[in-house]
Amino acid sequence: MFEDTHDEHVLLTPGPTPIHPKAQKALMRNMLGHMDPEVFALNSEIQNDLRVMYGTEEGAFTALLAGTGSLGMEAGFANLVEAGDEVLVCANGSFGRRMAEMAARYGAKVRLVTAPLGEAINPADVAAHIDGVNMVAVVHGETSTGVLNPVPEIAEIVRHSGALFTVDAVTTAGMEPFKMKDWGVDYAYTGAQKCLSAPPGLAPIAVSERAFARFAARRSPTPLWYCDLDGLKDYWVEHTYHHTVPVNLHYAFHAALRAALEEGLEQRQRRVRQMGRVISRTLEPFGFSHYVKREAERLPTVLALRLPEGFDDAGIRKALRQREISVTGGLGPTAGVIWRLGLMGESARPAPYRKLMVALSDLLG
Ligand code: PLP
Repeated sequence: MFEDTHDEHVLLTPGPTPIHPKAQKALMRNMLGHMDPEVFALNSEIQNDLRVMYGTEEGAFTALLAGTGSLGMEAGFANLVEAGDEVLVCANGSFGRRMAEMAARYGAKVRLVTAPLGEAINPADVAAHIDGVNMVAVVHGETSTGVLNPVPEIAEIVRHSGALFTVDAVTTAGMEPFKMKDWGVDYAYTGAQKCLSAPPGLAPIAVSERAFARFAARRSPTPLWYCDLDGLKDYWVEHTYHHTVPVNLHYAFHAALRAALEEGLEQRQRRVRQMGRVISRTLEPFGFSHYVKREAERLPTVLALRLPEGFDDAGIRKALRQREISVTGGLGPTAGVIWRLGLMGESARPAPYRKLMVALSDLLG
């Protein structure tokens, strides 16, 4: 049975993150219609703030999709890929593989560039396979292994190829440098519940003018009517009805994104790094060590730590959960091998981690 007694719950998972207090308050606002002028004004502020978060030019289209990060991922392939297109997917973890699966379902011929688990994609491998490719897709922060892929270096290669460039910014945008314009990214997405600490259920996207031109040249309409870029523009730019957006989630998202920009993106980057250093140093004496060997390849927002020898992963996490502390283990091949500690948004704060340290000291003696 679900009991509403989780006021003090400590959520240290790699998403969702604890809701920002301002977002939580905004969720409670009275409902307005999705066609209300005040909602359009709020949407327009969200669009502008998203341009700042993604580091993109005036011309880029930004919007919220009514779904989670995976819908952001799917909408990119659905709008920008047609049957027979060659799509190079960098897949060094679960979310890269999800991208490949989605691209294939929309008819792409997928070329995979991989790397050993816990290692970043080598840009030279992208360069070696890029000839004749219509799109390159990469996950910036691979949540399943805590790896940061070298998007700026890959961007240099993509720029010279003429291919569209899709970047999954789910664990990075809002907390890590993200420069859509400078890097020449054509399509980026994240999930509201990650670095911005808004409730799950929205996928903020950014689409370049070049991507729109590719979309306009499609031979057939996108099979995904719900996220058709023209349909989204009808609502977000022309202010005509397309579908009923979740207005209360927009309120909360607006508040969370504003709070992030008020704190400052660079300050957030410093905060996550500082927290990561303190936590990994504090956990070292327990026998935890970095899973990602090369420091430059470590994703600051998801701390992947190898478990100590003989560590009772499931048992300790269960005991922590009984004390209202949620920690996530590995995924697929890293299950039982690592913990993935979330440092996105409101989880990158000393207070919740202090509680984890106290509980671990108690449990591990
Ligand atoms: N991409 C990455 C890198 C993720 O970490 C996640 C979720 O953890 C997703 C995509 C999918 O997002 P969602 O679970 O919100 O659909």
